[in-house]
Amino acid sequence: MSRSSHFHLRRKRSIVLPNKTMTSTEEAKQFVLQAYGRFDLTVTRGEGTRVWDERGREYLDFCSGIATCSLGHCHPALTQAIAEQSTTLMHCSNLYYIEQQANLAELIVEKVVRHPGKIFFSNSGAEANDGLIKFARRFGQASGRYDVITFNKSFHGRTIGAMTATAQAKIHEGFDPLPTGFTYVEPNDLDAVQAALTDKTIAFLLEPIQGEGGVNPMTKEFLEGLAALAQEKELLFLLDEVQCGFGRTGDLNGYDTIAPGLVPDGISWAKGMGGGFPIGSFYVAEKHAHLLGPGSHGSTYGGNALACAASKAVIETIIAENLTANVKAREAQIRKTIESWNHPAITEVRGHGLLLGIALNFDTLDIPEGSMPSIHLCTALIEKGLLVPPAGPEIVRLLPPLNVSVDDIDQALQLIKETLDAHLKS
Ligand SMILES: *Cc1c(COP(=O)(O)O)cnc(C)c1O
Repeated sequence: MSRSSHFHLRRKRSIVLPNKTMTSTEEAKQFVLQAYGRFDLTVTRGEGTRVWDERGREYLDFCSGIATCSLGHCHPALTQAIAEQSTTLMHCSNLYYIEQQANLAELIVEKVVRHPGKIFFSNSGAEANDGLIKFARRFGQASGRYDVITFNKSFHGRTIGAMTATAQAKIHEGFDPLPTGFTYVEPNDLDAVQAALTDKTIAFLLEPIQGEGGVNPMTKEFLEGLAALAQEKELLFLLDEVQCGFGRTGDLNGYDTIAPGLVPDGISWAKGMGGGFPIGSFYVAEKHAHLLGPGSHGSTYGGNALACAASKAVIETIIAENLTANVKAREAQIRKTIESWNHPAITEVRGHGLLLGIALNFDTLDIPEGSMPSIHLCTALIEKGLLVPPAGPEIVRLLPPLNVSVDDIDQALQLIKETLDAHLKS
């Protein structure tokens, strides 16, 4: 017996090899760390608002990779930008200047933020928030301040820093000791914020609309009050636009939809800015940009030519096709349609633009013992051919692409109505 066949036999006995007799789900369960609760679906292809599974079944996708595929799947502007850049230059490191990075930074500062400042590029939202936290720490060094106030039910990502900024016990569970320097406060309550201020407070960090935490919008008064308080106490006003940014709310900035005229000191983004290509970034207002000088922060992949070319194509398309206007019109369509149902299982529609949460009335719904209502309904909707993500136990989220059509909205809402009807207690 040769060595290789002997090795093969021994391996076969100890583990199951991935082969054609294994489904991709079985393969994933054996070899991919089981850190995610997943729906039982494998998506293999996408086009616009549609995706297909491995059996060729079609679904209407109102999850959009969790608010990521802002132009829908495989939009030609994005696939072309990626194809062209990938044959020119993908990556050369931040040891050298990167033309696509400079172009994208200019586009974001000039057309999106519209206030002087500078951009750092990361690969994800959590890293972008870590960058904002490091910005706050640098800002506070001289005065010995470091504590960042974040808000209950927030979500800022899964790195040790972003996770600690996230004020949700279930995200922290079993990861003690967490870094110090965070204080959690109830959102939309300026008095609670006032009461939480200490001589160590350096910044407020918050999502204008909490996404993962249940689609909870901040009020105009709260955002404006925090910005004013930050100015008064010389604190940084930092916004996490990872989910609500780049057109999702019907404006290029989520905060513009709630409180136009706000001028944040720092902003983080990811999700929708790449249209499905992994990229994140944060903005630092010009007056503070010197705090993160050469050597202070970095990322090997961050802002490489390929990611920046992809993101630029996405953002330019959002602006050129005026997709924010479509977002506002489709939001109105959704609200009007759902209102007209007067459905006993729906308590309200929360959020802005196409970051909406349908809040469920548990009392009216027949949900099997032990299952979470939102997840049970999202599973039932997959069966019907619609992908939507939950947000906490009581919210079904709607996150279609920004260019979604009237007909797609009608079709998705019809499926939701049928599913809710089928789950009403008799
Ligand atoms: C998704 C999300 C993050 C984390 O982004 P990742 O790319 O998953 O690291 C941070 N903040 C908000 C508001 C998010 O929705």
